[in-house]
Amino acid sequence: MNKTFLKAVPILEKIEEAGFEAYFVGGSVRDYLLHKEINDVDIASSATPLEIKSIFRKTVDVGIEHGTVLVLVNGEGYEITTFRTESGYSDFRRPDTVEFVRSLEDDLKRRDFTMNAIAMDKQCRLIDPFHGKKAILEKRIVTVGEPGERFREDALRMMRALRFVSQLSFELDAQAFESLRKNSCLLENIAVERIYTEFEKLLMGKSKQKALKLLTASGLYTYLPGLASQKEALERFQSLPLEKLTDPVVLWTLLLTECYVDNIETFLRKWKIPVKQIREIQRLLIHIDNSSDFTKDRMALFNAGVEEAVKAARIIAILGNEDGRKAESSVYQAFQELPIQSMIELAVNGNDLISWFDRRPGPWVKEELMGILEAVLNGEVRNRKEAVKEWLKHCKRM
Ligand code: ATP
Ligand code: MG
Repeated sequence: MNKTFLKAVPILEKIEEAGFEAYFVGGSVRDYLLHKEINDVDIASSATPLEIKSIFRKTVDVGIEHGTVLVLVNGEGYEITTFRTESGYSDFRRPDTVEFVRSLEDDLKRRDFTMNAIAMDKQCRLIDPFHGKKAILEKRIVTVGEPGERFREDALRMMRALRFVSQLSFELDAQAFESLRKNSCLLENIAVERIYTEFEKLLMGKSKQKALKLLTASGLYTYLPGLASQKEALERFQSLPLEKLTDPVVLWTLLLTECYVDNIETFLRKWKIPVKQIREIQRLLIHIDNSSDFTKDRMALFNAGVEEAVKAARIIAILGNEDGRKAESSVYQAFQELPIQSMIELAVNGNDLISWFDRRPGPWVKEELMGILEAVLNGEVRNRKEAVKEWLKHCKRM
């Protein structure tokens, strides 16, 4: 058994000793069968949240109404969710009622795809009533039960299907695709934040192009914020060499370079993207507009900082049909070769200037410092106090 699961086995044992059932479930079991790295394990149990709380000393109520309790053991947190069924879904996103049940199979039945509906006990035995392992081996995404029914219960599952296509490079089952095409409009009932999370995972996944193709072919894109009239843009975007890109900011920026959007900020805010990320995207778009060449413009490179410059260079190269990796490493190297890489490294500061010029502080100090910075970056003067002083005299600035 994998180390992450082994560490959690005592938790299953403790629940079993108290007379209940407990299994590993969900994404962790799927990723284990796919030989992928597992970060955290999900546990499902027949014990109710109150029963779980009576078994473990340290617990946190993270979602007790849905049946989830966080158990803290040896400094690690484990989410334990009570077996449950869901019913109702009159709003296409949330079950009207959640009912705790004692049967594992009922719990597995409410899960979205067969690959996500496998349970594993402490001896690594699989409980797989919907043949999820077979689907994993065949690399197929199949819904548990009739796809239309499952998408109408919770329309987010359609986005989840496509993000799994991207992340796992699986094929979406034909019947599920057909049903996704028919039910696309139900995505309107889903909160933007949840769509955003899935879409960003789709963008970051390795088979994003395959998933984007399904997104346009099914019409699901019509219900994504600001993308309803951007079919051609999405097609251009998906024909770029995106495979190796995993940075969401780079991917959003590239998407925006292909879209006709009146106001970038309004578009990104519709998606509820964090403001910090919006600003980063806006700065990258400016570099693209300016076709900034960071290997030549040292001041621009210094101001952008290495991370931003490297991202911009990669995007500019991709859009120009050039090697993104190469562009990235040239900019990285150019940054390493800068005489200084941050303002604190500059050999003179404001106080030096005030004393040398014998002037009162004011906006001139910053202007002079910027002039010195540029000269140092461009190799006109060495980054030494005395050298800068001589240079200022020589330029008749002082
Ligand atoms: P990831 O590796 O991205 O976390 P995951 O499969 O673990 O993928 P989660 O969102 O963490 O996805 O959900 C955990 C499990 O809960 C899923 O494997 C699935 O069994 C179930 N699940 C999650 N969302 C839904 C949903 N919308 N409908 C039905 N079951 C769901
Ligand atoms: Mg998960």
